[in-house]
Amino acid sequence: MPKEFDFVSYCPVLNCPNGNTPLYWKHYKCLGKTTINDLGQIRCRKCDEIGPVIDWLFRCEHHDFQPANFQKISFVLSTVQQILDVEDDDFFMDMVDAVKVQYRKRKQQQKTSSDDYK
Ligand SMILES: [Zn+2]
Ligand SMILES: [Zn+2]
Repeated sequence: MPKEFDFVSYCPVLNCPNGNTPLYWKHYKCLGKTTINDLGQIRCRKCDEIGPVIDWLFRCEHHDFQPANFQKISFVLSTVQQILDVEDDDFFMDMVDAVKVQYRKRKQQQKTSSDDYK
């Protein structure tokens, strides 16, 4: 089992004005509280749905469902550590690294698919 912490932090959507009020991110399908783990996955505590951060969409009072922006999610994930006052630096480094890999792969896939149209 990967290590996990409650996902409580700011909104990871680019240009969203929510940067001051940490939110307890809930799964919209069941309203269960979510967690983040050191593999860069978000999991719902209630229904157990799990997936990489890059595949989740985020809705807050400022906008409808949107994907997380990489720069913003890196910041948001590191603030979870401050908010929960966790000493385990390794956990957060592993998590941010895992998320980085997700975004890098997505970028390469997009590059490959646009090459198909040349
Ligand atoms: Zn759920
Ligand atoms: Zn937002």
